[in-house]
Amino acid sequence: MIEKRMEELIKIINQANIDYNTYDNPTITDQEYDNYLRELQKLEEAHPELVKPYSPTNKIGGKVIDEFNKVVHDIPMLSLSDVFNEDEIIEFDERVRKVIKNPKYVCELKIDGLAVSLKYENGKLVRAATRGDGVIGEDITHNVVTIKTIPLTLSEAIDIEIRGEVYMRKSVLKMLNERRKEEGKELLANVRNAAAGSVRQLDSKVAANRNLDAFLYHMPQAKDHNIYDQYDALNYMKKLGFIVNPNIQRVSNIHEVLDYIEYWTQHRESLDYEIDGIVIKVDNFNDQEKLGNTIKYPKWAIAYKFPAQKVLTKLKDIIFTVGRTGQVTPNAILEPVLLMGSTISKATLHNEDYVLQKDIKKGDTVAIIKAGDVIPRVEEVIKERRNGTEEEFHMIKNCPICHSPLVKKDAAYYCVNDNCDKIQIERMIHYVSRDALNIEGLGDNIIEDFYNLGYLKNYIDLYHLKKYAPELMELEGFGKKSIEKILDNIEDSKKEPLEKLLFALGIRYVGKKTAKILANHFKNIDNLMTANYEELRNIKDIGDVIAKSVIEYFSNDDNKKLIEQLKKLNINMIQEEKKIIQKEEFLNKTFVLTGSLRNITRNEASEIINRYGGTTTSSVSKKTDVVVVGENPGSKYDKAKDLNIEIWSEEDFLNKIEVR
Ligand code: NAD
Repeated sequence: MIEKRMEELIKIINQANIDYNTYDNPTITDQEYDNYLRELQKLEEAHPELVKPYSPTNKIGGKVIDEFNKVVHDIPMLSLSDVFNEDEIIEFDERVRKVIKNPKYVCELKIDGLAVSLKYENGKLVRAATRGDGVIGEDITHNVVTIKTIPLTLSEAIDIEIRGEVYMRKSVLKMLNERRKEEGKELLANVRNAAAGSVRQLDSKVAANRNLDAFLYHMPQAKDHNIYDQYDALNYMKKLGFIVNPNIQRVSNIHEVLDYIEYWTQHRESLDYEIDGIVIKVDNFNDQEKLGNTIKYPKWAIAYKFPAQKVLTKLKDIIFTVGRTGQVTPNAILEPVLLMGSTISKATLHNEDYVLQKDIKKGDTVAIIKAGDVIPRVEEVIKERRNGTEEEFHMIKNCPICHSPLVKKDAAYYCVNDNCDKIQIERMIHYVSRDALNIEGLGDNIIEDFYNLGYLKNYIDLYHLKKYAPELMELEGFGKKSIEKILDNIEDSKKEPLEKLLFALGIRYVGKKTAKILANHFKNIDNLMTANYEELRNIKDIGDVIAKSVIEYFSNDDNKKLIEQLKKLNINMIQEEKKIIQKEEFLNKTFVLTGSLRNITRNEASEIINRYGGTTTSSVSKKTDVVVVGENPGSKYDKAKDLNIEIWSEEDFLNKIEVR
């Protein structure tokens, strides 16, 4: 039972980590994430014999995206251990005082953004990187140089690494979202994702247009510069030209820490940047060294996380929206209310069961929660505030757009009329979206307008829009330039790889990740269209539901016709092989990995080897060129020595990975 729950938690946390760290697109709230992690930690403490070596309680951050150059951090970039209440802060102080007499602490605001490492040589910025998994990050120099508050040249010509947080101001997010709304673009969810999403882009134009900022707070090798505590390090960083947060405070006991926390709990809303907690650090570096680190956290610091914020407001109405799959979702229309820097006037109610379970009625006073991210939701009804005028909820029976009868599948209701206007519009919105064919300039409102004006009825019409160019240019709000740009973007999107097209088609259960797996496996659409159930099931990560859905999609005559039409329009239906960056030490060589690697997972190491033109196999033979040996290697290591095969330690391996 317990083991099963632990496995379940590992799965949920791993998926959340990927969504949040790798794709900057959280699917659960931070509070839910923290609760799951806490539950797992508690179970691991109580049952150490059940701890899995792959548990996420020991791992930092997310996977490094392939498209970026990789950077190996000189000193790992760790995470922070979270605490959630006063007792846990006091316990931290007690743990510290067991080792250090009368410790001083530095209290800092925990900026909600993205951690970066900046490397300067001779006072010049030479490289900027994300934290990645703590050991290997992504090279984001091209984006960081667009951040005006990060100095390219320091006031002293020294070699130094500085770390801090890139963030977006709340006022900037508001302005960008107002502009995006006008342009009919999807709104940026929150400051953290907006900052991380801008910095982790290949095209530096995005970051340059997003007006990012940075607070710097860490010098990993401060002692080399004769600095011996955090407070002085922060002052030195200011002298070098960095922006250091002005609200930092050095305190001499834990009570002052608690006062600081109380103050900022009351005043955080007044800041123009989002903070999600307070970081408490032991001030003196020698003391920090005495306390040491775990593999994931320093033991000399903690992050106190603010509780998720809740606000009360009136639920004015419940409306129903139709999505691209036809799913009809109830949504709460709220009396607008300010929550964590943004005005909330709408919240999802998920489905009929959710509304009935929470007993939500029109006219209720409800608590809205937005735990640092994602879509706000109605958490509970304040029943004491009812006055008898509230109206019972009734799920509608017909589509609010085309009026055809809804069909219930599991907890959700669907409009199954394929010609329903809203479904068509939503499908096109999905088709042109960033993760699909990425056709910029065609925001949601524009698609809807073009649909209503009769220019766009389905995807195929996108490719015939050029016929109407003169008419479109006459439309209010458009001009020659904007229409030409849209048409160019449509033309360019024809070259997108197969994985994007597969995702764009909106095949049920084929998300971005599955589309990539299918495209990489089948290489072109014809192979995929003729694949049978067994072939699909034999692919790792393709289960019964996806396999059936793919077969069903491609057996449908309308869909087959659609693909034929897309082919005639020269839409790319091929997945190119990944480019290999040839590196002599790896090219055409066969590798075996053995023993546990400390700083990198096996999968990551294999991916890197593949990228550099090598392959990995599982057993050592005469054909093996290199054996990479981690801790506690087994018989493979002995065999490699017997066969006189080249042996690399983990360090050798990391040294050979291109870091610039
Ligand atoms: P963290 O965000 O709790 O703390 C570590 C980070 O704090 C550092 O890497 C640094 O970027 C940042 N930081 C900001 N100000 C700082 C300062 N003054 N000094 C030092 N560091 C400072 O830990 P994490 O490992 O980055 O992320 C875990 C957290 O991310 C979770 O607790 C959760 O809130 C969130 N998360 C959410 C999801 C989700 O699906 N919603 C998934 C994964 C993680």
